[in-house]
Amino acid sequence: MGNTLFVYNTLTRKKEEFKPISPGHVGIYVCGPTVYSDVHLGNCRTFISFDLIYRYFLHLGYKVRYVRNITDAGHLEGDRDEGDDKFAKKAKLEQLEPMEIVQKYTLAFRDVMRTFNTLSPSIEPTATGHISEQIEMIKQILEQGYAYEINGTVYFDVEKYSKEYSYGQLTNRKLEELLEGTRELGGQDEKRGRLDFALWITAKPETLMKWPSPWGWGFPGWHIECSAMGRKYLGDTFDIHGGGMDLQATHHTNEIAQSQACNHKAPVKYWMHTNMLTVNGVRMSKSAGNGFLPKELFTGNHPLLEKGYSPMSVRFFMLQCHYRSTLDFSNEALQGSEKGLQRLMAANRFLDRIKPADKSTVDVNDINRAFDALNDDFNSPVAIAVLFDWVRNINLLAENKETITEADLKTLRDTFRTIIFNILGLKDEQGEGSKQGELTGKLIDMMLNMRLEAKARKDFATSDKIRDELTRMGVTVRDRKDGFDWK
Ligand SMILES: [Zn+2]
Repeated sequence: MGNTLFVYNTLTRKKEEFKPISPGHVGIYVCGPTVYSDVHLGNCRTFISFDLIYRYFLHLGYKVRYVRNITDAGHLEGDRDEGDDKFAKKAKLEQLEPMEIVQKYTLAFRDVMRTFNTLSPSIEPTATGHISEQIEMIKQILEQGYAYEINGTVYFDVEKYSKEYSYGQLTNRKLEELLEGTRELGGQDEKRGRLDFALWITAKPETLMKWPSPWGWGFPGWHIECSAMGRKYLGDTFDIHGGGMDLQATHHTNEIAQSQACNHKAPVKYWMHTNMLTVNGVRMSKSAGNGFLPKELFTGNHPLLEKGYSPMSVRFFMLQCHYRSTLDFSNEALQGSEKGLQRLMAANRFLDRIKPADKSTVDVNDINRAFDALNDDFNSPVAIAVLFDWVRNINLLAENKETITEADLKTLRDTFRTIIFNILGLKDEQGEGSKQGELTGKLIDMMLNMRLEAKARKDFATSDKIRDELTRMGVTVRDRKDGFDWK
């Protein structure tokens, strides 16, 4: 595969060579959270997947502008303009101002993202901060004749649009099929076509979040914010647009339509979608009662969880599955990842104990297979499998059963650490990387040095006592000619 990056494009349904619109630069837009409740795990998976993708582009040397929006207005309960405003409903329930809800859950969301060690996007624009850009875009769509206004609400005219463009191109569906799957319009409906959707929604007397517009007081539809903010920060056409698979059929389909109608250009070169989550093989959902929040996963406080799992174990677990595959949660799988991560981090620590030799009995270039995997549509599970081959080698090297030259050892350390820390975005939660781990390590070293001193003055009672106490605490001590080793 070499150094070429291949990306699966939902639009063309195949892997394509990644060619940036502007050499050396990548523009990525990912649909962010709707901040009216705690972020759910499916969203976390999407953002962790795009964190890997962001980190890999940075590793490849690209200048990346990564935009991930915060939806803080305009998202109704039904994706097709039905039901109550999510924020107003929650505000009533919690007796708060809508913006208090937004603030509370935006901060909670950022906390969770930090806990998972995801990098902050370059720009995190909010819908409420871009009302004028959205109004401007709606005006342009109206001018082009792809929208109509009824009683202060502006609808996108899908039928008119479909005469020139393929509305269902993202999900590869014909207009007739889409119409079949949509309910007939009733007497109460204002819109003309079944697939038409709102760009601007007129405010009711009880609407809390509303803005003035050429069509009266109201608020933007959900889909227009991403088209308007994507265009503002990344241009009429940008490289990558991502999100969860559940956004393809409506949200992203409508985004394409809005942008095409307005700019007469395809807005995005590569569409990327992350797959869904299941729990013991059943699709994760609130209604099935099997959806856990990140904090429940960390504490183990959920009937389906045997115990809590650390944020890095969860992150590693997610990365052990390709972003386009369904990710199945089970205690067994989570515990497997937890152990795997510990082995990986232990190998990282062993790297510092390996002593260079005159010749290498291992082929250090072999670890580059991990990059081949990442170049193949960010295939993290295969890259991790390569790392585990090297965990084996590192253990053999640490035990002097294989040898390595100084130059090769440097390459191995650099490559191994670049992949686990910079690209996979993992942290050593127990080892030297963490403060607690650092302190523990120092204390154990101190105890073992005291033990060496005791042995030197032939105080075997004390030296044995120290070793036995450490063993009881789970620290295995191995004596070496030149000192000691511990695990
Ligand atoms: Zn969006």
